Amino acid sequence: MESITPGVVLLIILVIPVALMWAFSKRNRTGQEIQRQKDQAAFDTLPYSNHCMTCGNDFKTLPVPQRGSSLVELALWIMIFPAGIVYSVWRRQKAGKITCIVCKSDAVIPAISPAAIAHTASIQAAIRS
Ligand SMILES: [Zn+2]
Repeated sequence: MESITPGVVLLIILVIPVALMWAFSKRNRTGQEIQRQKDQAAFDTLPYSNHCMTCGNDFKTLPVPQRGSSLVELALWIMIFPAGIVYSVWRRQKAGKITCIVCKSDAVIPAISPAAIAHTASIQAAIRS
């Protein structure tokens, strides 16, 4: 019976994990790409939901998600209490806020509100005259 040489064993030990890692990363990338396309399709169906009172731009955007990680926040609250407070405040500073994608103003209101409709009408009247 033929014995297996160390070279073959080394090759198997190296090739199998690399092949598994490659296959897993490829599958993971494909999953992320599919999720990204689904998110984009859902985003595209949104109406123009925001109106900027500074520049009059109508745009759609999603609320800014919280920064950082809940796990880190919990760990800081348990282990380093003052740092937990600072981290919690930092995480929530910009969460949920919407700023104009053109002029970065935070004077953004829903596009279907009477003030936004009146603002749009006044801009169009100013353009026509
Ligand atoms: Zn603006």
